[in-house]
Amino acid sequence: MFKDQVVLVTGSTRGIGKEIAKAFAGQGAAVLVIGRNAQQAGQAAVEIIANGGLADGYACDVTDADSVQETVNKILDKHKRIDILVNNAGITRDNLLLRIDESDWDEVIRVNLKGVFNVTKVVARAMLKAKKGKIISIASVIGMTGNAGQANYAASKAGIIGFSKSVAKELASRGITVNVVAPGYILTDMTARLSQEVQDGIMKDIPLQHFGSPRDVAGVCMFLASPAADYITGQTIVVDGGLTL
Ligand code: NDP
Repeated sequence: MFKDQVVLVTGSTRGIGKEIAKAFAGQGAAVLVIGRNAQQAGQAAVEIIANGGLADGYACDVTDADSVQETVNKILDKHKRIDILVNNAGITRDNLLLRIDESDWDEVIRVNLKGVFNVTKVVARAMLKAKKGKIISIASVIGMTGNAGQANYAASKAGIIGFSKSVAKELASRGITVNVVAPGYILTDMTARLSQEVQDGIMKDIPLQHFGSPRDVAGVCMFLASPAADYITGQTIVVDGGLTL
């Protein structure tokens, strides 16, 4: 479905991002794997290539605007364009409001929100020239519902939703759609850190009675990047097994 398309996925060295990268590669896309660690980015690309896909790995910290520009320049030199951008890189630094120190606040906003701004701005410039493109950002249901202990994370994810609606309006006339995927509880390194008690508590509230897998999120990204979603922009698609119903 994505043959000859160039797809950039941030934070794709593991977890949801890696699954998204693998899914696009499995449908014929050339995938650009981005993470802070060069070895891990290279390794993820090698795995995709070993499975018959096309991929390159790049070390890039999304909080560093110069590094983002440099990386995108390298990608454009080689691939000439970026058709699909998935902003997936994200972190948590959970604590109750009175215990969140300034560095934990700043770091979460810098990676989760400023990172989306940095990458989207540079990639959108290339998409504007091509007069087409699909931009998808991974937020979270926490950005919609809030969660005790995650004020910094919730603010960053709610920010992605507002940012994406604004940019969707700016870029619509140039053939570029901008959408958000808001996962609920997905099994990755990020959620493995939660205590069994917290996990049991969440499970009770999931009508579908199981946690999500990275594949569940990847499927929605592929839909939003496909021609079937050409008339969808500025939307947030929730992938949470009914958690927020
Ligand atoms: P993981 O912690 O498993 O993976 C995070 C990825 O982001 C890694 O590849 C990491 O690579 C990369 N990353 C982190 N910081 C940066 C940075 N500054 N620059 C570039 N890459 C970075 O997380 P998940 O797969 O669980 O989460 C992926 C996204 O989905 C996140 O945005 C998260 O908030 C969101 N999400 C996850 C949910 C879940 O239940 N797991 C639920 C809702 C949303 P490296 O460290 O090598 O740089």
